[in-house]
Amino acid sequence: MQMTRPVVVLLAETRLDPRGVQELLAALGVTESGAKRFVDAAPGASTLIELAGRLCYESFELGLNPNVTKIRGSSKGDGSILEHGVTCWALLNVSRVLTHELVRHRVGVAISQESLRYVRLKEIKMWLPEELSDAQKEAMIQAAKDSEAAYLKLSESIAWDAMSMDAKKRMTSALRRILPDGLATNMIWSANHRTLRWVIEMRTDPAAEVEIRTVFDRVAEICKEKWPTLYQDFERTSLPDGTGSWKAKLRSKV
Ligand SMILES: Cc1cc2nc3c(=O)[nH]c(=O)nc-3n(C[C@H](O)[C@H](O)[C@H](O)COP(=O)(O)OP(=O)(O)OC[C@H]3O[C@@H](n4cnc5c(N)ncnc54)[C@H](O)[C@@H]3O)c2cc1C
Repeated sequence: MQMTRPVVVLLAETRLDPRGVQELLAALGVTESGAKRFVDAAPGASTLIELAGRLCYESFELGLNPNVTKIRGSSKGDGSILEHGVTCWALLNVSRVLTHELVRHRVGVAISQESLRYVRLKEIKMWLPEELSDAQKEAMIQAAKDSEAAYLKLSESIAWDAMSMDAKKRMTSALRRILPDGLATNMIWSANHRTLRWVIEMRTDPAAEVEIRTVFDRVAEICKEKWPTLYQDFERTSLPDGTGSWKAKLRSKV
């Protein structure tokens, strides 16, 4: 039995190819001076999303679309273009409580989670909410230890070496039924920025469960730092338990 805590790692993100940007803008008839600001911009999701938005209205510079008389500097709050930028996160040592809640968000995501059919555990790892009293924590740790002991005892009684991988998987999957929901697991979770804005709002809401709030508070902090234009309207309100609730001020669920 090992006490642990959730870890959030930003693993990958959409990158633009500056040569592609140059090619695109030249093909669309944008002048070299008009293209310069996009070619020189940080080659990440923010620039890609701005390009996608401007492509819809041919608003890269004045003169391209006769209807455009002014180039707006700010976003209109159109959510669909946010889908072009994808982020990929490693969520480590998170409980199955958290992963079960997170997979309810179906749109614009990709998920890979540690398999407890394939992986036979050697110990239980777990995080417990700070708000519990020491006595409550102790009682819960004992319950988890009992479950771990039962799992390991059953596991030791099985002749694994004589089994095919398929048989091992069937047995490993059967054994996991006695493991607690709070068991730490690992997940790779990808989401586009439209989805991410929504999930941050939902999962840092004061009504959300404390672990997922803690994790998405950190995700939101990283987003605000990495993509300031995409999350400029997100504001954090501190909650009494030390986490934060993030709300979009421009438009919720764009
Ligand atoms: C605080 C909190 C408490 C919760 N409590 C419970 C609970 O007690 N029991 C429970 O079962 N769940 C609970 N949930 C989960 C909740 O009901 C949703 O399933 C979850 O938040 C996923 O959000 P979503 O429906 O917006 O889906 P997402 O997959 O995040 O979709 C984003 C948006 O896309 C649109 N969309 C997605 N799929 C469809 C579709 N099939 N048809 C039409 N439009 C679609 C909707 O506008 C949706 O809001 C809770 C969630 C929160 C945040």
